[in-house]
Amino acid sequence: MSSSRKSALREVLNRKANHVNDGARRVSEYFGENTFHIDKMRECLTEEAYKIVKSAIVHGTHVDRLHADQIATAMKDWAISKGATHYTHWFQPLTGSTAEKHDGFFKPIGPGKAIERFEGNLLVQQEPDASSFPNGGIRNTFEARGYTAWDPSSPAFVIGKTLCIPTIFIAYTGEALDYKMPLIKALAAVEDVAKDICQYFDKNVNSVKATLGWEQEYFLVDTALFNARPDLMMAGRAVFGHAPAKGQQLDDHYFGSIPERVTAFMRDFEYESHLLGIPVTTRHNEVAPNQFECAPMFEEVNIANDHNLLLMDVMEKTAAKHHFKVLLHEKPFAGINGSGKHNNWSLGTNTGVNLLQPGKNPKSNLRFLTFFVNTIMAIHDNADLLRASIASAGNDHRLGANEAPPAIISVFIGSQLTKMLDDLEKSISAGKMTPEAKTELKLNIGKIPQILLDNTDRNRTSPFAFTGNKFEFRAVGSSANCAQAMMVLNTIVAKQLLKFKTNVDKQIEAGEKRDEAILKELQTIIKASKKIRFEGNGYGEAWAIEAAKRGLSNLKDTPRALDVYARKEVEELFNELGILSPVELEARHEIELENYILKIQIEARIMGDIAKNHIVPAAIEYQNVLLKNAQGLIDILGKEEGEEAARTQINFIKSISKHVNGLNDKVNLMIAERKKANVLDDARDKAYAYCDNVKSMFDEIRYHADKLEIMIDDNSWPLPKLRELLFTK
Ligand code: ADP
Ligand code: MG
Repeated sequence: MSSSRKSALREVLNRKANHVNDGARRVSEYFGENTFHIDKMRECLTEEAYKIVKSAIVHGTHVDRLHADQIATAMKDWAISKGATHYTHWFQPLTGSTAEKHDGFFKPIGPGKAIERFEGNLLVQQEPDASSFPNGGIRNTFEARGYTAWDPSSPAFVIGKTLCIPTIFIAYTGEALDYKMPLIKALAAVEDVAKDICQYFDKNVNSVKATLGWEQEYFLVDTALFNARPDLMMAGRAVFGHAPAKGQQLDDHYFGSIPERVTAFMRDFEYESHLLGIPVTTRHNEVAPNQFECAPMFEEVNIANDHNLLLMDVMEKTAAKHHFKVLLHEKPFAGINGSGKHNNWSLGTNTGVNLLQPGKNPKSNLRFLTFFVNTIMAIHDNADLLRASIASAGNDHRLGANEAPPAIISVFIGSQLTKMLDDLEKSISAGKMTPEAKTELKLNIGKIPQILLDNTDRNRTSPFAFTGNKFEFRAVGSSANCAQAMMVLNTIVAKQLLKFKTNVDKQIEAGEKRDEAILKELQTIIKASKKIRFEGNGYGEAWAIEAAKRGLSNLKDTPRALDVYARKEVEELFNELGILSPVELEARHEIELENYILKIQIEARIMGDIAKNHIVPAAIEYQNVLLKNAQGLIDILGKEEGEEAARTQINFIKSISKHVNGLNDKVNLMIAERKKANVLDDARDKAYAYCDNVKSMFDEIRYHADKLEIMIDDNSWPLPKLRELLFTK
């Protein structure tokens, strides 16, 4: 056996579960211990400074310099008491992960003397040397540098010896260079209008927060095996590998018992997450072998998203201690389910009401219907934009692969609500309603049960499903920063709610009663958005055909999905709501195209390398063994008898040649296409070329390599096989 594969497997066999140092304390005793949260601030700050920071957290108001100094000092003292020596502005550049640049608290003040120092200006604003982060030409165009600015709404935290301060990342000319800033703007937009609409129903509502509960799927692979697979190391996915004999056919993994080493890892990373105030609560095995999921209690979107990014980081660091690698790629292994990150979304008020929870009476149900139906309409009008928000090279493998929702965006609401909407559509007459009709309508609306019967009859094939008291956006990729999907979702809902409110107010001004005006507008929307609703099997071929008839898009790859960013109406939507300027939108389009190109380019390179440097040599080596054996038989037995005796060997020899040639020829063709693509200047042209001419060859290349894998002596195969990666714990 190839030496690296052999020693990796030997290493794995000797592994033991790690001892976990989560102590005897209850979670409630240490939850959020490493965060500078609001209660901590109340303890450390003067009453005035506390009020100012609280208002900044709740209402996004400004923190003046004097109080920023006070807060910075308190934050520093707290962080030092936790063992911190450095601080960093923690931000979310458009590469998809998080970034930080560490500075020490310590400042020399003379020979042999130093103090620990951290002032308001360092808290509020920093200038990271971030010229290497993608900016889509923004900073070149404006010849401006970028800076990070404190986001007080997300608590600072200590990891290791560093105080991390969540920040936004912007160009000096004001354009966002990150995911967080547009998200915060979109959340403010949806809050403003949702708050206004809540006034129709309850004057006590003065704040509405969008909420997010993500469910993170991931794979675990032993570090030693991971290190013996260059493709996993460079691209995060196995570009080669024959499907294991035992895949997920037996379905015994889902909710199966979690092996000891994995449990130890989970306990450890949950402990670390809890210290950071990440409310992780559930864990279970997923469908595929070595695939797992964790989910937290939902939180306000901006915080929930910071927590998800932090969690991905904590997972990776903790996994290293347990000799695991976390694979967050959407499709690390062909033929086995990929990973997603369901985004559960709703809107909650300061009065404790979930606006997507059916109520107890006609009035609260009318409020529920208002937000419910408007969300459906928002998806209807902006399905392509929502599709673009989840587009990535990794997610392209997953969407539409009979395991994840299709690339066609539709909304599932369950049979009860379908009936409710169908009834509403019919029962509201165009002209003035009779008193009887009104009573009946109210009765009908009052009948929506608080707990929906089909809450549990989940349609897992829908990309956007109502699940009783929230919508679940299932098409988000496991490695994604949820901010992109959440920014788009909250923007389009804000836009739709604004339209709704304008129309209802117009009717009210024209003398219509408020409830009737609302109902009539809802009826119009229910009709107009009908084609986006789909209750059937989203995986079926029939749906693709039916969806096409309905005029719904089916954008199967990233470059095509991203084209929507160039549409005039999309530019207007973001601009009008102040979420993204046309320049910012264009920059994002370009950055995402570039991210795509880069990913496919890396995969293509690693495929070429592995094929030529690992697989072909192993195949030839084994072919030589066969040749020697066949020749020996012929030498001893004579040509005719010898050839008959070596029939199998000779067939293998021919087969190996066929696949080695096939593999090498295809790789050469792919390299030629890559070279053609590389000289294209325009990012969009290049992405299309990579998608249509380079990536389109991956399957055929893989076909030959995977055939060779099952033909060649197991002892000479150089790469850990999928069965070893997936079933070795
Ligand atoms: P299930 O596990 O059956 O899918 P849960 O109620 O446990 O349903 O929810 C799954 C995810 O949805 C969790 O992450 C949870 O925090 C989140 N969630 C629940 N309610 C809301 C809400 N109002 N807003 C956003 N997310 C929510
Ligand atoms: Mg779920």
